[in-house]
Amino acid sequence: MNKGIDILKISNYDKFNCIADKCKFTCCEGWDVSIDTDTYNKWEKENDKFDYIFNNVKIKKCGSKTEYFIDKETGEECPFLDKQGLCQIVKGHGEGYLSLTCHTFPRIENIFEDRKELSLSCACPEVVELMGSIVGKINIISENDITLKSHLLELRIREALINIINQENFLLEDKLIISFEMLLTTLENKNLREDTLLEKIEKYNKGEYIQKLIAMYHEIELNTDDSIEEINSLFLDIIQNYKEVSILEELFKDSSNFAETIKIESLSAKWHDYKRLFEQHNKLIENCIVAKILSSCVSNDVEEMAISFQMIILEYLLVRYAVFLKYCMNKNEKIETEDIKDYIVAFSRIIGNNTDAIIEFFEDGFGEAVLEMGYFCFITLF
Ligand code: SF4
Repeated sequence: MNKGIDILKISNYDKFNCIADKCKFTCCEGWDVSIDTDTYNKWEKENDKFDYIFNNVKIKKCGSKTEYFIDKETGEECPFLDKQGLCQIVKGHGEGYLSLTCHTFPRIENIFEDRKELSLSCACPEVVELMGSIVGKINIISENDITLKSHLLELRIREALINIINQENFLLEDKLIISFEMLLTTLENKNLREDTLLEKIEKYNKGEYIQKLIAMYHEIELNTDDSIEEINSLFLDIIQNYKEVSILEELFKDSSNFAETIKIESLSAKWHDYKRLFEQHNKLIENCIVAKILSSCVSNDVEEMAISFQMIILEYLLVRYAVFLKYCMNKNEKIETEDIKDYIVAFSRIIGNNTDAIIEFFEDGFGEAVLEMGYFCFITLF
């Protein structure tokens, strides 16, 4: 390894084990699976052994770029899965012949000039279990157990985001709004000198400053019916193409029918009691949010970082709303932790698989890829 490059791993990274055919959300179904060029070339070199693979590969040309995918509809399962849910490529040739996506998922690797970071994706249910079992705060630490401070601006912004989420005594929804405000401030001031920008970011580390901002945002008058109506239609739009995907059907079929027919006022009447109960599960959700920030808010382009964080907020809102629909459908009005975990996996996949389409959807609807604070308050703080 290069001298000076440190390897950092997210909490519980080494505890991850795939449960393969016992997994209820197998990652071999419900999204598009890309094949990296190196793996494709490797198969081509031994094409006599891989005929059956080439019959199931789709090639997409985009200008001078060629992209390879497993030939299946997004919702379908991988054609290489056998009846026991095991991968024929692994069985026939070993893990070394898997595409990078299949080989590494749910592991995520980010390389910076002074470090390599290994984290995990919450699109895998075993990762969500691991995030839920962390004692104390989730972290990313070097192999020598040292949390390394980085001089890179993007990592300092990311650290500030995590500091806000880790603050005690504030509601998670408030912390998300304040984190987003910090990113918008950074975006507005991105041409300032780095030390001046860091001074602005530093203010968001202070509890009193956060408190002041929260109080200001809570002065905005919101109408619960209108906010629920908006989030209800976002929920229905976003799950539209997924409610019939077999592994997600159980999660979305009844709730989408319910969301399409229920009177908004009857949902509003239950919202505030529900929110209080949902907050009891914040530890699991906060850990998953921090895991997502660690793996996806890493761009040195502040706008890209703001968009990544916006996707994290959107996932949180959709999980909270999907669990709410279940709560309303359930006569006992209970929240099951398993439901929260399942929806975290589902929306991590849906949003992760559709980020470009969602950005386009926002650009069409709001004229910008990065949304305004007013809209986020409207769909978050009600
Ligand atoms: S989602 Fe996770 S546990 Fe399930 S099959 Fe994929 S890697 Fe294994």
